[in-house]
Amino acid sequence: MKEKMNAPEYIRGGKQKLFYAESETTSWPCPLCQSPHSGLLDQERGSLQIRRCLHCQLIRVSPRIKNPEEIYWGDPEKYFQESRLIFSGEQKHHRETTYLHDINLIQKFKPRGKLLDVGCNMGFFLKKTMECGYEGYGIDPSPSLTEIGKKNLNLNIETAFLEKTTHEKNFFDVITFTDVFEHLVNPQEILSKAKSLLKKDGILLIKVPNAKFNLFKWFVIRKILKNKTYDIFDSYEHVVHYTDKTLTSMLRLCGFTPLLTYVAPPVQLPNWHKFVGHYYQYATPWYMDFRKKTARKLCYRMAWLEKKILGRCGYLAPNIGIIARATEGDLKESF
Ligand SMILES: [Zn+2]
Repeated sequence: MKEKMNAPEYIRGGKQKLFYAESETTSWPCPLCQSPHSGLLDQERGSLQIRRCLHCQLIRVSPRIKNPEEIYWGDPEKYFQESRLIFSGEQKHHRETTYLHDINLIQKFKPRGKLLDVGCNMGFFLKKTMECGYEGYGIDPSPSLTEIGKKNLNLNIETAFLEKTTHEKNFFDVITFTDVFEHLVNPQEILSKAKSLLKKDGILLIKVPNAKFNLFKWFVIRKILKNKTYDIFDSYEHVVHYTDKTLTSMLRLCGFTPLLTYVAPPVQLPNWHKFVGHYYQYATPWYMDFRKKTARKLCYRMAWLEKKILGRCGYLAPNIGIIARATEGDLKESF
């Protein structure tokens, strides 16, 4: 207990900041339809603006930070310390439920085969897919995170951007982007590359936070509770916010046909780190997390029901996912 009381300051491996000056940011056109015209929704962490495209409704952060992926190029020792209880097997990863949910869905389409996890971080999801029978490969541009995954989980991870991968064409049965696609500033280029790496009958899974859920949170927090400072959009790292509609449009534009659109369970991020340090240094007391966890679960259950009955991913769905395959005949749909 003494150790807990004297816990260190909250240390994170990442390089994220609370405030970004204009000189650290860049403006960019809509990554779906290329329109420069947008309406302002919100502003976070100084100069980061959340905007909705007036042409296709895609929500993006513009100005955004120049190289958002570099937030994850932090100190390997801090990253390792942050997750040490997971590596030692004393704690489960807080994303374990969502990992298993996504793997179950993949198994319905491709029960076995070569799987590439893009933006694999330290490799926890990748490790799970291998435990479920896949031949797993990972790729991530962060030297520090990939080093940890290779060293501690003995995984086959390439340290690179997907555009620069050394993997051959038509090599993979499955490519996954779990909580990664919203970080990408070049989604069309990435999808084209993913398509070339997939076998002809291969499948792609993309799971992202639901933009509509963020809009719901925005309405409650900014409009009803009048809280002007709470970070809603994670705009320093999430540069695009997709709905099921805009994600479907992006996939179709890049030559993919969606096979399944689903409401994904919430990521139950613990609150513990805000008070005592790392996420996983100690088990979180249940009373610190249970209200947020219950609210997220309730939203998820209602959104799941809405999808089942009305067939749409609504405002209460915390996360959404799509499984897709390459469109036959190589026809791309124009936007
Ligand atoms: Zn647009």
